[in-house]
Amino acid sequence: MTQLPLRAQLASALGRSAATLSRMTGRGDGSVIGGRVGLLLEPDLLRQLARDRKLALVSATNGKTTTTRLITSALLELGEVATNAFGANMPAGHVSALSQHKSAPYGVLEVDEKYLPEVLATTGAGVVCLMNLSRDQMDRAAEIWLLAQKWRKALSGKPTHVIANCDDPLVTWGASTAAKVTWVAGGQRWKEDSWCCPECGGPLDRKDADWACRECTFHRPEPQWVVDDDSAIDPRGQRWLLDIQLPGQANRSNAVMALAVAEAFGLPVDRALPRLREVTSVAGRYTTVEREGRHARLLLAKNPAGWLEAFDVADPQLPIILSVNAQGPDGRDTSWLWDVDYRILRGRPVFVTGERRLDLALRLDVADVPFTLCGTFSEALAMQPPGRVDVIANYTAFQQIRSEFGRAV
Ligand SMILES: [Zn+2]
Repeated sequence: MTQLPLRAQLASALGRSAATLSRMTGRGDGSVIGGRVGLLLEPDLLRQLARDRKLALVSATNGKTTTTRLITSALLELGEVATNAFGANMPAGHVSALSQHKSAPYGVLEVDEKYLPEVLATTGAGVVCLMNLSRDQMDRAAEIWLLAQKWRKALSGKPTHVIANCDDPLVTWGASTAAKVTWVAGGQRWKEDSWCCPECGGPLDRKDADWACRECTFHRPEPQWVVDDDSAIDPRGQRWLLDIQLPGQANRSNAVMALAVAEAFGLPVDRALPRLREVTSVAGRYTTVEREGRHARLLLAKNPAGWLEAFDVADPQLPIILSVNAQGPDGRDTSWLWDVDYRILRGRPVFVTGERRLDLALRLDVADVPFTLCGTFSEALAMQPPGRVDVIANYTAFQQIRSEFGRAV
């Protein structure tokens, strides 16, 4: 690897010191502040740190932190990997990740959907992995269409190899200007944002997994990889039982995306898959916290599509605690609660807490889902019989539970 220019070396080193200082003074893991300091001193730092490395960028509305982790785990089979494991997914976080592993020949970077064009242009990453696009707390359908259009422009004319989920029409459209695309039939649970053709606005006809526009030629491409229940089918037609530890269909889909990315790096399935099976939790997700014999499994859900994925993972035999906040990272507007179909929760004991518990309570009441309102998460947990319980929480509610109950088991 070629040496960084002196200014970049200095910026990178000062950034790392700032990060250490931030950690020592208890202000978080320091990755954002360190990167910001570095970029302030050398605005070209990200490009310089990315040079001469083999990079994968991972973007989506949901599952990017988990998929980044799975790809990183796989590529460790090849050598050292730099990654932003804690979800600091804007350029400052990328600078920090790369400068902490200066000699790593590989990098796997989670990238905020809006920053993907900029980060791709700056880093010249060889591989981009795109999984799904749906409305988030702040985004609505028109905004995610604009986002996909920016992806198209960013990928057009570049040699980047894109790995994309062809079951999501908007992702397919966003990826299809790339020179080389490997299509993965990764499934799509949330379909509310893709009833219209992104190319012409006409209606999309769906039949099983297949989809096509009724009014133009835009249609689902033929996938090379297929997620089939608990297995992956590779481009040669070979079936692999995934047997990963992360729960739910969304994670099996993330795992197959990771296998396709690993293969783009020259790593075959038989070497990548055992590495994916080593991943048990990602930044506290899916871990269990315990108090007085109650074992609460934490599921993070930040938007409507995320809630559907969490419902898929939650055990229908268990009680469930739902916690919704509306602080900065959650979005102040909780109107998205009305987009989710809660009827699947009928018949199980449901407990509702969090700052916006009354908003959620009203929504459940309209859906005819009986529930118990609780002042705090501790109170909700204390109401459970000893044993297991599932918890679905949005971002700050999830972080509050983690900090109150200590780093998860
Ligand atoms: Zn069309």
